[in-house]
Amino acid sequence: MNGGSVGELALTGGEPVLGSLAPVNWPRTTDADRAAVLSVLDSNLFVSDRTEATAVERLERSWAEYLGVRRCVGVSNGTTAIELALLAHGIGPGDEVVVPALTFVGTAMAVVHVGATPVYADVDPVTFTMTADSLAAEITERTRAVVPVHLHGLSADLAAIDEVARRHGCVVVEDAAQAHGARYRGVPSGATGNTATFSLQMTKNLPTCGEGGLVVTDDERVADRIVQLRQFGETIRPDRPRRYVSHRLGFNAKLSNVQAAYTSSQLERLDEYHAARRANVEAFLARLRDLDGLTCPSEPDGYEHAWHILRFVVDFDRLFPGVDTGAARGVLMRALRAEGMPVTRYQMMPLADQPALRALVRQKPDSWPVTQDVIDRSFTLQQRHLPPDAGPLLQSFADAVEKVWSHRKVLAELAEGAGR
Ligand SMILES: *Cc1c(COP(=O)(O)O)cnc(C)c1O
Repeated sequence: MNGGSVGELALTGGEPVLGSLAPVNWPRTTDADRAAVLSVLDSNLFVSDRTEATAVERLERSWAEYLGVRRCVGVSNGTTAIELALLAHGIGPGDEVVVPALTFVGTAMAVVHVGATPVYADVDPVTFTMTADSLAAEITERTRAVVPVHLHGLSADLAAIDEVARRHGCVVVEDAAQAHGARYRGVPSGATGNTATFSLQMTKNLPTCGEGGLVVTDDERVADRIVQLRQFGETIRPDRPRRYVSHRLGFNAKLSNVQAAYTSSQLERLDEYHAARRANVEAFLARLRDLDGLTCPSEPDGYEHAWHILRFVVDFDRLFPGVDTGAARGVLMRALRAEGMPVTRYQMMPLADQPALRALVRQKPDSWPVTQDVIDRSFTLQQRHLPPDAGPLLQSFADAVEKVWSHRKVLAELAEGAGR
């Protein structure tokens, strides 16, 4: 133990554990990353519609090799990656696509933008993502695809989900935007045989200096379609000049060579960062696991977590009996933030309740009780734990949590006041 449990709460005027709210220090840009970007600037090869070997091609090859899959196609971002993957699998108007009720809104927006209808599956209270059972409960005769999300960096239970999908003739497109480096039964996320999509957005585990996305697949036809779709439906061949003939209705959804070169350089350090993050996060969670009424995120047997987001679930009824959960959560989060630990809420509502999506929902309201309960009772830590040297910061966060927990009687009184 340490001195974290002594002293008055910063929220009520005491000395905070950290001098200020810990800043974001991600992505971590090295001289190698800078040199990679500069070499693109000097090459004048900026766009991936060129026939020369480009930084985009190099990243595609190295990511396919890293995962051990046949093909990788670079696209403009992780949302477009899902959209083009669905289109390449023939998903469109009239089709239903099952997505988890707890995920980033882009997962469902991609479904809407291909003209299909998203249907939301409730999540598991421990892994926070869709299960085979919650998927099966939402399947109808119109279901054509499933998008399991490896939320927070933990793979969905793919063997079970694939089984349900296969039984109903559905294609599986994995949203692995948060899962670079994760493994399921020893296999890297994205390499399990389905088409899978990644985001390279700067907050992700494999970042770029802006926006980017990757689709991986063992299916050559799917990959070729995505290459066409990202480039106005054209076919660009290395052995002849561009012909400006569009074979299908496409998009301009290319990845830039600057983004690709930066990510290729980051990829050299992905394994090292992943290993360091796992050690740092495990040491952090080990200090919090026995705190009363707090459930730390966990790594089930057979899974390797990429720890993209850390979600903590609080038993507010036990800690603050009789107090409104929203008020209790608010006070707890304010107390942690006052100590310098920048806890957040990741997702404020089940996806179906998003104002932009509500009108398209065919399910009854409140069909996602577990998702709602997880959202009501949890807080998250994002980005601060991603850098390889985040260990000491995480130990300070553990001091902050221990301190706040030791003052939970004070918090209960504050929450009672706030809830009235
Ligand atoms: C980030 C993210 C996306 C979207 O990726 P962008 O590159 O930001 O478009 C999709 N799904 C999940 C789960 C994500 O975390």
